[in-house]
Amino acid sequence: MTTVGILGGGQLARMMALAGAPLGVRFLIADSVADACAGQVAPLLTADWRDFDALADFAARSDVVTFDFENVPSDTAHWLSERTQVFPNARALSVAQDRLAEKTLFGELGLATPAFAPVDSRDDLIDALATVGCPAVLKTRRLGYDGKGQFRIRSTADVDAAWDALGGVPLILEAWVAFEREVSVIAVRSRRGELRAYPLVQNWHADGILSASLAPAPDSGALHAVALGHARAIAERLQYVGVFALELFVADGRLLGNEMAPRVHNSGHWTIEGAPCSQFENHVRAVLGLPLGDTSALGTSVMLNWIGELPDATPILAEPRAHWHDYGKAPRPGRKVGHATLCAAANAEMRDRLERVARMLSREAQAAPVLAALLACER
Ligand code: AMP
Repeated sequence: MTTVGILGGGQLARMMALAGAPLGVRFLIADSVADACAGQVAPLLTADWRDFDALADFAARSDVVTFDFENVPSDTAHWLSERTQVFPNARALSVAQDRLAEKTLFGELGLATPAFAPVDSRDDLIDALATVGCPAVLKTRRLGYDGKGQFRIRSTADVDAAWDALGGVPLILEAWVAFEREVSVIAVRSRRGELRAYPLVQNWHADGILSASLAPAPDSGALHAVALGHARAIAERLQYVGVFALELFVADGRLLGNEMAPRVHNSGHWTIEGAPCSQFENHVRAVLGLPLGDTSALGTSVMLNWIGELPDATPILAEPRAHWHDYGKAPRPGRKVGHATLCAAANAEMRDRLERVARMLSREAQAAPVLAALLACER
């Protein structure tokens, strides 16, 4: 019996364990929080990222270790890789943990990015604003996610407020991009170097947190091929094994690299019901050296994220081809507590389904940009 150890016990680990169970795989979760929600579906070891006694036990009990959380210290990942197999590798993790290293890599591999500059002091910030221009966004290089650790700078008058909010840790200033849309490519690379990708996904964020995804992104065949090329180049350079997401802006019809997530990703949750093999199963397959599964889309899928609290499940449960996911987490503002995926054979069927469900859940505002995108591509 093979055991996959997962560092981090959130909903991603939970969905990975649920996807891997039919393959006969066991899971062991390590998290610093005793009630991490993956612990409801797999054994949970409570361990801090620096608790090397507990981590030695975790490594000894895991055939392969992987992550649900990219901010595990990369020296902990190194330490574990001396004791068991770790995928993705510690170097890939450390590049993806640092927005500066990540954007530098994108540039080296020919993926354009928003203009950016490192910022380590208030003077650097003033210099960086002169090169990058306004509006811009100041971000922490590390530990930021879901829009946390970010400050919008609309004019030089915002410099002090931005520095007071974020100064003191390594930062990066990025030009604010007036993008046409946000897309992501979810790709998976096997231990033998085979790469597959799901169709490009279109994403909408609210307050920096993913709100909705539409897959495949409408009218995206050509962009998909370009995004796939970038994903392949990055994965090969990093000798990456497993699923990762490349988050991209589309501006003036061109792709700009925003960030890479070295793990299964929220914009790939639709693959559970919307693809023959989900991102979670494919990640498990990849890290175990098993053949990769089919990444095509079965029609159209829309994923709606539930942030802060769950709506009433009944309209989703009553709807054909609609799927409810409750992560078993306590409600809290800004926390991802669940999602729903709607599937349909074609766009028109999806519009009806989404409109009906959104009305019954009073989530019209969340669904509106997705409905507009579906409508636009029918014209
Ligand atoms: P991030 O954590 O960097 O993915 O940022 C969260 C969200 O903030 C992104 O998905 C975008 O919607 C927005 N955002 C971040 N950086 C930029 C940027 N340079 N220009 C425009 N929007 C951005």
